[in-house]
This record gives sequence, structure tokens and C-alpha cells, in this order.
Amino acid sequence: MHRLLKRQLRRYFPDGLPESEELAAFVNSVNDSYNNFSCDEAILGHSLDISSQELNERNDTLNSLLDALPDTCIWVDEFEVIRDIRLGQQLDGLFSAADKFKCIDDIALLKGQHSFRSYLLSCRKNNRPERHECQLTLGNEQIFIETRFSPLKNMQVLVVFRDITMRKVVERLKNAALEESQRSGKQLQELINGAPIGIMLIDNTFNVIMVNSYASAHLGMATNELLGQRCDAFIEPAFRKQYLSAIGQCFSCNDSACESRFDVSMCSPRNAPFAAELACSTFNHGGRLVLTQAFTDISARKQMEKELRRLAQTDPLTGVANRRFFITRGQAAFDSSKQSGHSLSLLAMDLDHFKSINDSYGHAIGDEVLKCFCRTLETVVGKDALIGRFGGEEFTLLLPDIDKTGAESIAAKVLDGVTQQRIETAKGNLGFTTSIGIASLNEADSHLESLLNLADARLYRAKHGGRNCYCSGD
Ligand code: GH3
Ligand code: MG
Ligand code: MG
Repeated sequence: MHRLLKRQLRRYFPDGLPESEELAAFVNSVNDSYNNFSCDEAILGHSLDISSQELNERNDTLNSLLDALPDTCIWVDEFEVIRDIRLGQQLDGLFSAADKFKCIDDIALLKGQHSFRSYLLSCRKNNRPERHECQLTLGNEQIFIETRFSPLKNMQVLVVFRDITMRKVVERLKNAALEESQRSGKQLQELINGAPIGIMLIDNTFNVIMVNSYASAHLGMATNELLGQRCDAFIEPAFRKQYLSAIGQCFSCNDSACESRFDVSMCSPRNAPFAAELACSTFNHGGRLVLTQAFTDISARKQMEKELRRLAQTDPLTGVANRRFFITRGQAAFDSSKQSGHSLSLLAMDLDHFKSINDSYGHAIGDEVLKCFCRTLETVVGKDALIGRFGGEEFTLLLPDIDKTGAESIAAKVLDGVTQQRIETAKGNLGFTTSIGIASLNEADSHLESLLNLADARLYRAKHGGRNCYCSGD
């Protein structure tokens, strides 16, 4: 039983509740009203019953129960005189016992409350309950009151006052919080719109809830088209698994400091895919965890990195691999051929009497010869073959899947191709030759270097053998 009701009953019935079915039923229903304070109709219904039947008879028992109701009630008769007042526990000071038998116009508190009067009249005239909310100054406090007007017999009205200040304050706080969250959402949108990177806010169901102008321009889609889409729709399929696991981790760590950075390829139905660096972190936005996904288009950087890598791997004059890159790639090919048992051969080449070309025609022509030599090699073995420049006019050529016989045939083609070349100079057309040393995988131990040394030794045998020839054995 509700504690207030229990207290009241104890006060009025110290020896326990008298045996009466009617009374027990009434106590039960009043108790229900207590327990369900929002169930106003029930309270009002009881008040009405009590007012019309029992109040007139001044039944002490029921009066005491009425007194125990938290609401304050007044019973206004047909002359607008307050015939009775029940001072509730909630609105202490709203009325006093002295207000009994006063006309409602003489109650200071209700003066100027025109709507109070018009609801009272309307209730009486239409014989229909009315409900009204108003704000009153009680002492120093501003309170909100809900007033319920219930028609009684003979144009009389029961008015129940309830203090709804708390409810109003909560409502105001809620509205203020809502306004604040809308305002901060707007501020956030303005803030992210100005950012020179793409920003997408994502909720914990992985839906896009906010995007900035950069993101929408970069994905070639209007903001409205992007909102509500699943965020992984903008990640290339090959990167989706890694992406979803990373953002899932961000959400599950439930900490705004949780941050994750990685590169992906982003896409959209309209624009071509582009390389992007993502920075994802979660933060608390209006009471829920939201993921910020910032992205920058790094395709230019990736392109530059690729170019830098290429420059770091190639010889600037001839465009073939430099010594370091040739050794790295060469060793990998060597290992793989060793493992698979496939053939592999290597050619070491050195232009003949190159010093005298420089001396006679100048360094620039010497450079032309070096370039022409590399293009000739490419014609013989294809552009994808691994050609390396090991020194001034010393080159190497890796021949995967080619045994010694095959390498000899290629060396012969190189010699033939080179002898056919002519460089135009001021002193007339210039021809040149090369010497070649050949070594194959089965002659070497586990390192490319032994193959290089062997090919080099045979190159010098070719030099001593008269140049413009190859040597493939000792
Ligand atoms: P051999 O037939 O015995 O190989 O004689 P060679 O003259 O070709 O050999 P040597 O080692 O005496 O000369 C190589 C020359 O290559 C010396 C050097 O000035 C020249 N050289 C090295 N790098 C470059 C370059 O990038 N451009 C030019 N034009 N010449 C270079
Ligand atoms: Mg040399
Ligand atoms: Mg030379």
C-alpha cells in the first residue's frame, strides 16, 4: 500500500480499518491512484464520487481519505463560491482554510487568471470536464499547475489542482537539451564543411549521418544521397574487410581516444576509385557514440611515391635497373628458380673500347651509345626483362627459365643487334660492340653474387678472346 495512504489510514483508524466491503474497495482504488499518479482520471473519479455523495454528508472517514490525496481540490458552487477546500500535500499555500466560502474572484491567487474563469464557466455550461495548465507565483516561486474542472450536480464544479512544476522543468530541460544538440549539430556541420579533408560521421550501425562538402565533392554525390548509406559502400571491395574490422574496433573500444589510421582505396558509383588515407576515431555526439572518418585523397602522393621508388630503382641515363635493384630482384629470381628447379642464366656485358669512343666523339656521344645499347637489349629480350647497369659501361641481363644454350643464343642476338646499331655524330656514323660473359644457375652456389662473379670472369675471357664475342665456359 502507498506510504501516504498507509499513514493516513493509521492516523484515522489506529485500531485498523473497520470491516466494510465498500470501504475496502474504496481504499483499494485510492491506493491504485496513489501508485499510478499519472492515472488522473481515477483520482478525479473518486474525488467526484466523494464530492457529490459523501462530502455533503460530512462523512469523516471519507473526508480524511480525501485529505490524504496529494492534490488540492476546491468545490465551487453555482454562485462561484468556494464551498469546500481540500488542501493537498503538494500545493501547500495555494489556498488556506480561510478561503472557504469566498467567491473565487476574491481569491488573490486567481485574480487575473482569466483562463481559469473561462474554463470553469465552460465546464459548468457544457457539463463537461476541462483541463488547463497555468503558471502561478506562489511565495517566491514560479510554479506550474494543472487544473482539472469536473462538473458536479447543480452547476457546481470540482476543481483539482496539481503541481506539475517538476514535469515542466523536466520538459524544459529536455527541450533545451534537444535545442542544444540541434545547435551543436549545426555548428559541427559548419565546422566540418570548412575542413580541407573529407569528413564522414558514421553511427554504430555503420550508416553515414553527416558528410562535409569535400567528401560529397570527392565522391561526386550530393549530401542527401550520401546520408543514410552504409559507409563501406565507399570502400573498394578489396579493402572492405580490413576497413570494417578497423571501424568495428573503434566502436567497440568505446573510448573517444580510440583512433585508427590506414590506407584504402575509396570509390563511389560516380567517380573513379582513388587512394585515400583514413583516420577514424569515435566521439560522443549527443549521448551516442559516433565515428568520425576523415579521409584525404593520397593518389597524388601514391603516384609520387611510385615515381620516387622507380627513380630509386633505375639508372637515370639509360632507364634500366640500377645495381642495387638488379641485385634485389635478381636474388629473388635466383632463389625462386633454385627452389623450383627451373633454369636461369645471367649475361655480364661491357662495351668494347668505350673510353676511346668518349675520347674521340665526346662524352655526350658516349652517353648516346650507352642508351642505344640498352634499347638494343630491350629489343632482343623485351621491355620487361631485368637489365641492370652495374657501372659506367657495364651491364647485366637476367634470363629466367633460360639455360646455357638459350643464353648463348640470346648473347649472339645481342652481339648481332649491337653491331647493326649506328649513332649519328658530327664525325659520321658510329658503330660499337660489346663483350659478353654467360653463367647459368647450375654452375652457382646459393647466391646471385657467385653467378655474377662467374659471368664477370667469362666477360674478361671474352675481352681477351678479341672482344665482340661471348664466353660461356672456362
Ligand atoms: P674495354 O674494351 O677493355 O672495356 O675498354 P674500355 O675503354 O671500354 O674500358 P675502360 O674501363 O678503360 O673505360 C670505361 C670508360 O667509360 C671510362 C669512363 O670515362 C667511361 N664512362 C663511365 N661512365 C660513363 C658515362 O656515364 N658516360 C660516358 N660517356 N662515359 C662513361
Ligand atoms: Mg668497363
Ligand atoms: Mg669497356
